[in-house]
Order: sequence, then structure tokens, then C-alpha cells
Amino acid sequence: MTLRNYIDGRWEAPSRTLERSVCDANTGEALFAQAASSDEQIERAIVSAQALHNQGGWTQLSAEARAAVLRDIAERVLTRAEDIAQADSQCTGVVIALTSKLAQVCAGAFRQAADLIEENPQPTPRDGAYGALQIERLPLGPAAVIAPWNAPAGIAAHKMASALAAGCPVLLKPSEWAPRSAQIIVEAAAESDLPAAMLQLLHGDGSVGAALTADDRVRAVSFTGGLAGGRAVAAACAQGIKPAQLELGGNNPLVVLESADLDRAADGVVTALTTLNGQWCRALGRLLVHQNCAEALLAKVSERLSRIQIGSSLDPASQMGPLVSQQHRETVLKYRDALLAKGGRLIEAVQPPDLPGWFIAPSLLCDLDPADTLEEVFGPVAVVHTFAHDGEAIELANQTPFGLAAYVFGEEDQAWQVADRIRSGLIKINAVSLLNLHPLAPRPAWGLSGLGDEGAYETFEFFRGTRVIGVGAR
Ligand code: NAD
Repeated sequence: MTLRNYIDGRWEAPSRTLERSVCDANTGEALFAQAASSDEQIERAIVSAQALHNQGGWTQLSAEARAAVLRDIAERVLTRAEDIAQADSQCTGVVIALTSKLAQVCAGAFRQAADLIEENPQPTPRDGAYGALQIERLPLGPAAVIAPWNAPAGIAAHKMASALAAGCPVLLKPSEWAPRSAQIIVEAAAESDLPAAMLQLLHGDGSVGAALTADDRVRAVSFTGGLAGGRAVAAACAQGIKPAQLELGGNNPLVVLESADLDRAADGVVTALTTLNGQWCRALGRLLVHQNCAEALLAKVSERLSRIQIGSSLDPASQMGPLVSQQHRETVLKYRDALLAKGGRLIEAVQPPDLPGWFIAPSLLCDLDPADTLEEVFGPVAVVHTFAHDGEAIELANQTPFGLAAYVFGEEDQAWQVADRIRSGLIKINAVSLLNLHPLAPRPAWGLSGLGDEGAYETFEFFRGTRVIGVGAR
């Protein structure tokens, strides 16, 4: 597959070839060189997006017509689901059993966006205090959508579908490490009746994201990625006085109370450690376990990890695959080695397969000072701390500057009381999974984990602003 930008209805090669290559994460074999859009290509895309927005975008079409286009895109994306899953598994190392499900979710994002258009019609004028009054929610303008590599298709689909439903022309910049699935989704959308400049694709690295974010004509930025990129986007949006939706990292605690069902908790620990190969913003960061059950829990976790099938991400039988790149594998191992040098004890119940890709064994590290384990790892490496009472568990859970996800295992009332004191956007009791607690529940973030709730309704509303028109007092 050749990387192509989609600008104002035309496919064209990104102008610049970057130094690094995207590799098959299973073999290390180079697939294609990373590529980036030139300033001229970025400019042309922004000009088209702004021109379309100034002409009223596609909100001049009826709500039914727009919803029909989004449903048509959903069907077209569905026909490309296998390609999407294959592309993401090969580039990111996430196992195909999971990317196949996530590819279906991409189509669902467009269906959900169509529903949102129909469920949120523009209000009709009503009586104000002095005459007619109208309160509207309108598209903010051209919107930059910047996606990461770890769940590239699903994140890009959610953001772009929400922005289109809100009426914003989308400038999509996928990650340079996993750009193919976004291109497949745009290819599918380009066959629909969506006006050309409503959805444009610009490949590139952080510099392309930064150029889009800094441009005054871009009126909203939805970003998912790491803290450094998030801070840069926040700073640029502050300059332009425009909203930034930031979905950043986490160092997520999983608390196991003495009252927990240890088999259920061990299942949860393994899921939290290995889902998306640990390259999951809501992955396990800190396992906090009551001192009286720590040994028994870790034995159960080790036994489960020893059975986990690590292999090629393209093999449907694999439960865990390699990391995304050699660079990322080195970063994760460096972090792990630094903790070992600080006296950490390694629990590694399974060896990675003897394959040339970027494989790494899932591992837990014990006997560390909690002050040394505050960062996000973004790999299948987590730390274990023990506690003597609930108050200590809560303190450890709230100790990092993040606040994305937390998990509490224990007798339900007690677990609920502990959850109630954890500062985090999402707290799951007695469960870990990629599934949201409810399809319409928001996915919020506290602390350094982000800004501006994500969610079906929340992301749709992020891309809209309010206008009030009415007859005033004499
Ligand atoms: P990253 O920050 O390196 O890159 C994310 C995207 O931002 C890429 O498209 C990149 O090219 C672009 N980018 C980089 N610098 C930029 C800048 N200065 N301005 C604009 N764009 C810029 O992140 P990543 O390594 O791709 O993803 C991993 C991170 O994403 C982890 O920290 C993870 O926790 C986080 N994440 C969070 C969520 C969530 O929902 N909170 C979901 C997935 C991933």
C-alpha cells in the first residue's frame, strides 16, 4: 500500500519522505518509509476546508441526508474491515483477534454519528423575554484530528465521525507509525457522497500535527497521544484561543482488596497487562494488592501469564503480539532496566518467542519505592506495591499525576467505597476490559491524562459552539 494524502477530493503522494520506516512488528522487515505532507499541501487542505466551512459546510443538507451519508460510509468501512485489521496488526503488533473487532467498531462510529445528527436537530425559535429567541449549536470550523498508533483506526474513526456529525470539515493526521488504516477509512468515505473537503487526509509526523494545530483557520483540535504532544497542542491552542480535546496517557492502578475473589482479580491483572500488548492508555500501571493476599494473587497471575500465547500479531491464535517498533521496545526495556537497577524484583512468567520482531515478555516488578514508579510505561511492564489498609491503597492509587482509569477488585460495597475516593475518569469494579461500561458513558480524564471528556455525545459536542440570536429589550 502506498501512502497518499487526500486533499480536496484528490489523491496525491505526501511530498516528503522521512528517515524512518514503518516495519512489520513481527519480523522487523521494513514495509514503507514514513512520509510527511509539505507546507504547500497543508495550506491547500486548510484553504479547501475553510472555503467549504464558509459556504456553510454540509450543514445546509438536511439532517436526514447527512445521516444517510454517514450510514453509507459505515457500510463502506465495514467492507474494508479486514484490510483495516490487517494493516493495524502488522504495523502496531496488536493481535488480529482484537484489531478485527476494533475494525467493526470503526464502522459503528459512523453509525453512532448518524444517530447523533438525527437525535440533535437544531432547535426551532422559541419565545424569549423580549421576543423571538434562538439558541443553536454550530460547527466550530475546520477541525484537526490527530491520532496515535496504538489503536489507530478506532480512535481516528471516532474523532472524524464525531466532527463530521457536528458539521466540521476534518483534517485528519494519523500517526506516522500506523498510517494505513486511516487511509483505508478515508478511501471508503471518499466513495460516498460526502463533500470532498469535508474529510481530508494529511500524512506526516508531529511537525504536520503542529502545523495544523498552530493555524488560526483550524478552530478545534482533537488529539490523542502522549503527554509531550498533548502539552504542545495545548500551548498552540492557548495561543489561538481554540478548544483542544486531549486524550493522554495514564499510569493506572488496579487495587486488589483482601476481600477480592483472587481468580477474578488475577484474570483482571492479566487482561490489564496484556491487552493491546500493554500499549493501552488504560493498561495496568500499578498493581496495588493487600499484603495478606499478595503472594496468592501473584502466584495466580504467574500461572495465567505462563499460559498466554505470544506470537505473530497476524496469527488468529495469538493472544499477545510484539510492540510497535524497535524504538518503543528499547524505551520500555530501558524503563524496566532502570527500575531493576533501583532494586526491583522481576516476575516474568513467560519468555517472548524466538522471533525477529519487537517481542517482550509481560512482566511485573516488585519491591520498589512507589516514588520511583510514577511515570507511564506504555508497554506490558507494571509494578506491584502492597498495602495494609484501604486508606493506604487509595493514597497509592492517587499518587501519580495521571487520572485515566482505575480498577478495584473486592467485595462490591467495599470496592465501591474505595473507588469513590480514587481520582480517575473511569473506575471499574471487579472487571477489566476494552469495553466501555455503557456505550454512551463518557471516557473522561483527570490530571495529566487529558482535558475535555471523550465519548459519543461528548466528542460530538466538542466540535460545536453555541450561538444565541434574539430580540432584545428596548
Ligand atoms: P504521540 O504523542 O507521540 O503521537 C500522537 C500523535 O500526535 C501522532 O499523530 C503524532 O505524529 C502527533 N504529534 C506528535 N507531536 C505533536 C505536536 N507537537 N503537535 C501535534 N501533533 C503531534 O503519541 P503516540 O506514541 O502515538 O501514542 C501513545 C500515547 O497515546 C500514550 O501516552 C497513550 O497513553 C496515549 N493514548 C491515550 C488514549 C486516551 O484515550 N487517553 C488513547 C490511546 C493512546
